Amino acid sequence: MYKELNPPRRILMGPGPSDVHPKVLQAMANPLVGHLDPAFLEIMNETMDLLRHVYQTENKVTLAMSGTGSAGMETLFVNLVEPGDRVIIGVNGLFGQRMVDVASRCGAEVIQVEASWGDIIEPEKIEDALKKHNNVKLVAVVHSETSTGVRQPLEELSEIVHKYDALFVCDMVTSLGGIPTKIDEYKIDAAYSGTQKCLSAPPGLAPVTLSPRAVDVLAKRKNKVQSWYLDLSMIQNYWNEERFYHHTAPISMVYSLREALRLIVNEGLEQVFKRHALYGGALQAGLEAMGLELLVSEKHRLHQLTAVQIPANVSDLEVRKRLLEKYGLEIGGGLGVLKGKIWRIGLMGYNARHENVVFALAALEDVLR
Ligand code: PLP
Repeated sequence: MYKELNPPRRILMGPGPSDVHPKVLQAMANPLVGHLDPAFLEIMNETMDLLRHVYQTENKVTLAMSGTGSAGMETLFVNLVEPGDRVIIGVNGLFGQRMVDVASRCGAEVIQVEASWGDIIEPEKIEDALKKHNNVKLVAVVHSETSTGVRQPLEELSEIVHKYDALFVCDMVTSLGGIPTKIDEYKIDAAYSGTQKCLSAPPGLAPVTLSPRAVDVLAKRKNKVQSWYLDLSMIQNYWNEERFYHHTAPISMVYSLREALRLIVNEGLEQVFKRHALYGGALQAGLEAMGLELLVSEKHRLHQLTAVQIPANVSDLEVRKRLLEKYGLEIGGGLGVLKGKIWRIGLMGYNARHENVVFALAALEDVLR
């Protein structure tokens, strides 16, 4: 006989997943309805409306793909890129690298514009690459680079990309519901996200949004989308008024997303951004007051994810183990070139609260003593 499931209680202040809002957990416990039940179709419509609000867009094609954030990434590349297309990708962390891998698997010719992990991609470097290579179909960057804590400025970059008539694509996995995404204002052609970061829902859906221009590129493809499962030309016909069955929607996850978005919209988007800035800033000030150094310069720092340099002679693994065992507190380690060099502390969504700032600072101070 197996015992009933009884996972330990944790406070998830790493790079994600972050703690799920209790109301979101409750929403998931609702009984299922069928994926073509009129009640569910209404829930899908509301979810799309709420998503448009939180993404700050009027884009009709704004929906949730089944799968985690990486499925969102893959969705945009498989749908917008055809073999032989030339794309430029900004790489200043692990998720930029992942985009390069995904785009290459779609048969794209990938030009990488690199920056150190912890820096932004300078718009001029993207412009240089656009001048050097003609017929670039798409330029992609990571808005919130979770592997480093860098916030990539988008406005100027978007102007440059459009000057060269390319599509501007952004990874907004750690941005959505934490910092402004301004899809329409910044003329971002396509973006993807995940549910387990600032939306405070479990991992499992990847909200994507495509501008009419991106939808047009999809409609004019020469070849079929390589992936059946992620083919937006079919999936959009399940989410729109056609309601063509494609695959069985993950019903409980859609419940969770609707509730997560409802909570954000009811709190007020601007207030949600302010809350992230307030508590993220407080955590960063507290860490610096403890004598710790932050990886990213203040100008380009995310509020929802902070990268802290691990002091010399301190064991990365030991500190994280003690935080987990003594306090039930999870923070993240570094990835790639930053492995063993930084900790990553998240204050995302529901977790961006006063008590979490105080708790994390006190726990870290204790285990570092
Ligand atoms: N992009 C960024 C910026 C992320 O932070 C993550 C996950 O941490 C991903 C993509 C991939 O998302 P997932 O792990 O949900 O597939």
